Amino acid sequence: MLEIVAAHGAEQVSMTADPVTGLRAIVAIHSTVLGPSLGGTRFRTYDSEDEALTDVLRLARGMTYKHAVCGNDLGGGKAVIIGDPARLRSDEFIRTYARFIDRLEGRYLTAEDVGTTQADMDLIRTVSPYVTGVSERLGGSGDPSPATAWGVLHALYAVGERLWGDASLAGRHIAVSGVGKVGRALVDHLVDAGARVTIADVRDDLAAEVAQSSGAEVVSATDVHKVRCDVFSPCALGAVLNERTIPELQCDAVCGCANNQLAGEEDGERLSSRGVLYAPDFVVNAGGVINIAQERGPDGYGHDRAWDRIAGIGATISRVFALADEHAITPAEAADRLAEERLDAAAAAAASQPS
Ligand code: NAD
Repeated sequence: MLEIVAAHGAEQVSMTADPVTGLRAIVAIHSTVLGPSLGGTRFRTYDSEDEALTDVLRLARGMTYKHAVCGNDLGGGKAVIIGDPARLRSDEFIRTYARFIDRLEGRYLTAEDVGTTQADMDLIRTVSPYVTGVSERLGGSGDPSPATAWGVLHALYAVGERLWGDASLAGRHIAVSGVGKVGRALVDHLVDAGARVTIADVRDDLAAEVAQSSGAEVVSATDVHKVRCDVFSPCALGAVLNERTIPELQCDAVCGCANNQLAGEEDGERLSSRGVLYAPDFVVNAGGVINIAQERGPDGYGHDRAWDRIAGIGATISRVFALADEHAITPAEAADRLAEERLDAAAAAAASQPS
């Protein structure tokens, strides 16, 4: 197991196994260079504990980069609870997990992720202060999805500015794959902005409902990436940009909220060689974590302050494109470089402080 940790790099990994509730969980703290680590708790089955450890380490590292590039004073961390939520979840199970988080004394702050809910976060708050994204009635920032959609919209403005010298989306054609919590909110923004919208979702009922309310055209989930359009916006699963799909794209740019859109590092280069502008996912989808970070501000959570900061994602995307041009690298590489520059500067400043 230590070899897996060494291969991914992490400041700290903590594990717990509770014989009474059956809780088995791992927290990975990748970096606290910029502040306490923050990232969601993923609750799902894994084929092995090694697979769970690899997943949590990879996700924690991703959070370090996401916070760094969007300007949050937070580090990268993530947690996994291993097992089937439908079988294991009980109030005492979640409270046991909360006590585990509490013992880390704030080096890791948790939040909602795949398999955990806002109700879980609210319950954790009764045991520990080290949880974010709790309900608005408890002073939290609530569901991050509207904030994430707001950030994607501003990333799209930056894509428009770069491609056409005009941020307006009026008359532009955007194909959105996945109309769940974020995709649906994005479609509403796009319609308001005067864009032509095509949508797809594996859930036909959801696609039909969103089409009805927005006037968007529906295509099949397997063909949406092939739609001839200005921007393809992946808002469902990861790894949608790969060896098979990239040659089939008929868009000028890709900009969406899904995590880990590139199947492999080489796919950033594949997109560039096809002349498709890629807005890196972890910059585009940072609205949710910017929103959550506002909970930690001196005045607590403020919706308007959060929304203003999220709109800044547009400027960050523009910086990524400029850096990519300057160094003849892909936007994905440029986004990593921006994050690493901030992390290196913070580490150097910390090292120069008298101990
Ligand atoms: P969600 O589960 O609410 O929505 C995802 C939608 O995609 C669902 O409607 C699902 O039916 C659909 N879908 C699944 N497979 C599909 C496929 N192959 N083709 C087309 N549609 C498909 O999730 P969400 O919260 O809207 O998040 C969407 C993506 O954005 C995820 O990758 C998530 O990790 C990422 N993300 C979300 C947030 C947030 O604030 N919710 C923040 C950052 C990143």
